[in-house]
Amino acid sequence: MRKNIVAGNWKMNMDYEQGVSLFSEIVNMVKDEVRGNQEVVVCSPFIHLPALAKLSAPVANVAIGAQNIHQAESGAFTGEISASQVKSTGASYVILGHSERRAYFGETDELLAEKVDAALKHYLKPIFCIGETKEERESGSFFDIIKTQLSKGLFHLSPEAFKSVVLAYEPVWAIGTGLTASPEQAQEVHAFIRKTIAEKYGETIADDTTILYGGSANPSNAQSLFSQPDIDGGLIGGASLKSRDFLQIISVFN
Ligand code: 13P
Repeated sequence: MRKNIVAGNWKMNMDYEQGVSLFSEIVNMVKDEVRGNQEVVVCSPFIHLPALAKLSAPVANVAIGAQNIHQAESGAFTGEISASQVKSTGASYVILGHSERRAYFGETDELLAEKVDAALKHYLKPIFCIGETKEERESGSFFDIIKTQLSKGLFHLSPEAFKSVVLAYEPVWAIGTGLTASPEQAQEVHAFIRKTIAEKYGETIADDTTILYGGSANPSNAQSLFSQPDIDGGLIGGASLKSRDFLQIISVFN
């Protein structure tokens, strides 16, 4: 059975102390609540990872992740961080393909495929983001866009490797805008993603793939989104920076 995951993406927020304190609150509040088939993941800036790893280690079903890695093993890449360095902090996930990185840092599908390989080589599970812009939604080309992002970024993987990937559908027009995809709009795309995975890797792998929704998810809309059959949790931006809101979103699965 596939996992339900609520993942926070802190983006470039929280200084060191603030991040440690927010994560401590989250761990204390969820430690008896998150069980079985559910996992809570916090993807923080790199600076927090070692401290968060220590705090999360004793708690089952709470994990941490990074928001980016460089595709190379190591070497002269000033300012960059490799998959093995992230892994060595105790992190187990990394967000790849976020629309902010595609848009502001020019990350292409081809580059992302290399980053996916680097992550998997070091046993970091990619949370791989895909999603269309407002123009692509309005022109009706969004299914093609999503299929291209999936196939160029991920479909070079072997079935065994693909099983470590978590997908996140994040319509760009819904990120940080307060505009959420309706549960029906999100479900339609999630079902399409699962069907596309099934065509490539078969029904069993598609059924076992966790597909998260991201884009202005909050305590008021999480229930209606997560109750859709193909939505297995969320990738939460703004609302993951407030412990109360994040907890309320997590508790949808209880
Ligand atoms: P918001 O929840 O702030 O819209 O951000 C979503 C997101 O980009 C998560 O990766």
